[in-house]
Amino acid sequence: MSLNLDARQRAMLEEMHVPVWWPESVVAAAAAPVPAPEPTATPVRNAPRSIAEAMADAPELVAARAASPLVSPALLAATPLVVPTGAVASMDWATLQQAVAGCVACTLSNHRKNTVFGVGPAAPADGGPPQADWLIVGEAPGENEDLQGEPFVGQAGKLLDNMLKAIGVSRHGSEDGQPHKAACIVNVLKCRPPGNRNPGVDEVAQCAPYLRRQVELLQPKVIIAMGRFAVQSLLAETVPDVQATPLGRLRGQVHQYHGVPVVVTHHPAYLLRSLPEKAKAWVDPCLAMDVWKKRTAAQVAVQAELG
Ligand code: SF4
Repeated sequence: MSLNLDARQRAMLEEMHVPVWWPESVVAAAAAPVPAPEPTATPVRNAPRSIAEAMADAPELVAARAASPLVSPALLAATPLVVPTGAVASMDWATLQQAVAGCVACTLSNHRKNTVFGVGPAAPADGGPPQADWLIVGEAPGENEDLQGEPFVGQAGKLLDNMLKAIGVSRHGSEDGQPHKAACIVNVLKCRPPGNRNPGVDEVAQCAPYLRRQVELLQPKVIIAMGRFAVQSLLAETVPDVQATPLGRLRGQVHQYHGVPVVVTHHPAYLLRSLPEKAKAWVDPCLAMDVWKKRTAAQVAVQAELG
């Protein structure tokens, strides 16, 4: 793909150790004002069974989780759900956020300081979803995310922001006075696993309805799945044996999650530890941008045809 990069974007790419040699381009128009964030939702409580009661129905899940942290479609399907999927499927954005804030469907609720619902442009006051064509899906909150209630903060978040900014995408819809395409950033799990351990299969299964509803409401044009657990969760139904497939083999293709194109890339925390992979990972957001452009062009064509 061809990109017109300004000096700021080229500096970001250099920070990512991606060689840049493109000519200077004209800086885009002035920024739109950044909307004020929505106030934090009031926690509400579901009435779930305890996870111990749920797991007692399926002791094989306990054994499977102890044996492997990988997400298995069969185990996900067999997990007795505490989260009321039928109710979640009809929630609007504001109600969904409240449900997550009060969720005690798995034991991660015992340890969290905050639920981490996601971040993006401000949602409208009518309870609808924010307007964002891009959805970034990570694994689970870490310590700082748990403290701040926001995904991808700290060094990994800074790298993610720089990767997105280089292609004109931002969690705020604008950056440094420049307008950007808006992205929502969420995790598979909304609560932090203690000690930053890997998510358990039962925890992923309990939390999956929330992510599914977020995607349904947002209707993004493209999803970027960051890291092994996000990839396994999103592609469990479409990629055979995804849990045994190396992430590298899933990159460079466009996958699907309930009708939304999915591009796979490494987690920013991994890229911080691997400079060669950090440079190579630049192709992934570029592929996502190609997908976004094609879907946007198709949408414009349909709207033109409809008059
Ligand atoms: S991780 Fe998800 S399912 Fe578990 S308590 Fe938090 S919101 Fe509920």
